[in-house]
Amino acid sequence: MLPHGPLVYQICPHCSLEASDASAKTFVHLEEEGDSLAQVCKSCADSKNIRYNQGKNQFPRRCLVALEHILTHSNCNCEIVLSSTWRVESRYIEIVMNQFRGSNLPNLQAVAEKVMKTTSVENHSIRQHEIMEYVNEHKIENWVALDDDNSIVDDPRFAKQFEFHAVLTNAQVGLTRKNGQKAIVFLFPHSALHQNFCYVPATAAASA
Ligand SMILES: [Zn+2]
Repeated sequence: MLPHGPLVYQICPHCSLEASDASAKTFVHLEEEGDSLAQVCKSCADSKNIRYNQGKNQFPRRCLVALEHILTHSNCNCEIVLSSTWRVESRYIEIVMNQFRGSNLPNLQAVAEKVMKTTSVENHSIRQHEIMEYVNEHKIENWVALDDDNSIVDDPRFAKQFEFHAVLTNAQVGLTRKNGQKAIVFLFPHSALHQNFCYVPATAAASA
């Protein structure tokens, strides 16, 4: 769910600086809601005191809200299992937990109360295989993989098993509300919930 850095190029609305490969690193993601992805150049953000995601390990608010929404629709019967390189070091897990804790989103805060589960820390193969190993080992029937690793949709080995279980995110954008909606449909295919999909805006969720 974590974007790998602001690489979605555009023109800064404040100073008209044009992002290119060379200057892309001077752009930052703004703290935005929904699926919008606003960026400005870092110097404008700093000089105008515009709030943006500090550091590359900071989850954008919209990603946290999208994840919260999946948990809300599951009536909190969902468990989050961390995959990827994030799972192998306790300090990375702590980064995730701290953001859940400070999110003011009740379901994510509840997740942060428990010990974060992870896929096998021994398995450093292909992401799809890593996730499949966990699913098989724990005999999980209802699951969804939220990942920006193409193997979850591309790798032929467990392609059949991942059909209707894979939500591929954009590495530069992270988890979006649209991704969340797809995950809910996969998790609850027979539920009427998703037919009237309603999105809880960040502000409403935060005050709930
Ligand atoms: Zn600018």
